[in-house]
Amino acid sequence: MLYYCIFGRMNLTDVAKLKELLLQSENIVIVPHKNPDGDAIGSSLGLQHFLKILNKKAIIIVPNEYPKFLKWIPGSKDILNFEKKNGTALELLEKADLIFTLDFNDLSRTGRMEGVLKNASARFVMIDHHQQPDTYATVTYSDVHMSSTCEMVYNTIEAFGETEAITKDIATCLYTGIMTDTGSFKFSSTTSRTHRVVANLIDSGAENMLIHQQVFDTNSPARLRLLGVALNNMVILEEYRTAYITLSQEELDQHHYLKGDTEGFVNYGLTLEGIVFAVIFIENKEEGIIKISFRSAGAFSVNDFARSHFDGGGHINAAGGRSTTDLEETTKRFVSLLAHYKSQLQE
Ligand code: 5GP
Ligand code: MN
Repeated sequence: MLYYCIFGRMNLTDVAKLKELLLQSENIVIVPHKNPDGDAIGSSLGLQHFLKILNKKAIIIVPNEYPKFLKWIPGSKDILNFEKKNGTALELLEKADLIFTLDFNDLSRTGRMEGVLKNASARFVMIDHHQQPDTYATVTYSDVHMSSTCEMVYNTIEAFGETEAITKDIATCLYTGIMTDTGSFKFSSTTSRTHRVVANLIDSGAENMLIHQQVFDTNSPARLRLLGVALNNMVILEEYRTAYITLSQEELDQHHYLKGDTEGFVNYGLTLEGIVFAVIFIENKEEGIIKISFRSAGAFSVNDFARSHFDGGGHINAAGGRSTTDLEETTKRFVSLLAHYKSQLQE
C-alpha cells in the first residue's frame, strides 16, 4: 500500500479505475498537444506500445505536423495527422470509447481538434504535468512536479506492475521524451527518481547515445544558419535580466524553415551569465500570430507571465503563448511589461 502513496505516483483508485476503463474499451485513441514535442510524441508512442502488450490497440492522432527529428521514434510512421487525414481521424474519434490525452492540461491545447474532442462520447484519461489541469477526464493523473509525461507513463506502467514488460521500443520512446523535456536531464524538474527511471529504461534497451544523436545531431545547414540569425537578433536587457530573440517570417523563409527548426533556440538566452528570463518571438504569417516561447531560471514563473499577458501557459520555467499584433508591436508591449516584474526578476 505504502508503495502507491509515494509522492508523484498514480494513486490506487486511479489505477483500478484505469484498468476498468481499459477492460471496457475497444476503440482507443491517444491525443498529444498541438505542435507535439519530444515528450508529447514519446509518451503517446510509449503508451501505445504498452497498451499493445495489454492486447489493446490504440491509434495516435496528432493535431498537426511534428518535427523530423522525432520521426525515427519506433511506431511514429503510423501516427495519424488530424490535418492531413481529417476524415479518418474524425471517424476514429467519433467511434472511440476511450481517449487518452497526453502532455496537456486543457482541450484548447489541441487547436482545431478541440471542438471534436469536446463533443466526443468517449471517456477521457489525462496524463500530464502542466499547471492548472482541466476536469474533463474520468481519470486525471496530473502532477506538475514531474519531469515529463513520459516519466508519468513509466509510473503508470509501474502501477500496473508491468515494468518487466518494458520493451526496447517503449524504453526508447520514454527515454526520448524525458530527455527532451528535461533539457537533457538538466532542468530542476529532473529528480533522482527521474534518473532511476532513465537507468531502468537504458536497462530495458534504450540506446542513450543513439537517441541523443538522432534528436540533436541531425541538423541541416539551413537550420544552423537560422540559429545564427536568431543569436544575432538577440536583444539583451540587463536591467531586467532578460534576453529575447525575434525571427520574422522572411528570415524563416530565407532559411527554408521546417517544423522544429527553431526548437531550443530560446534556451540560448539563459546561457548568458545573469540572465533569468529568455523569450523567442516567431512570426507565423499563415496563422497571423506571433508564437512565443518563454523560459526562466529560478523562481520567476513564466507560466503566470504567459497566462497574464500572452494567452498562454505551461510550467513555471517553460511556457508558451501567442500575440495577434505584429512582431514590432508585440516586442514593444513585452518590453513595456518588464518594468512591472523588475523586482521579481532580481530575486
Ligand atoms: P513551447 O515554448 O516549447 O511551445 O512550450 C513550453 C511549454 O509550455 C510546453 O510544455 C508546452 O506544452 C507549454 N505551452 C506552450 N504553449 C502553451 C499554451 O498556450 N498554453 C499552455 N497551457 N501551455 C503551453
Ligand atoms: Mn511535457
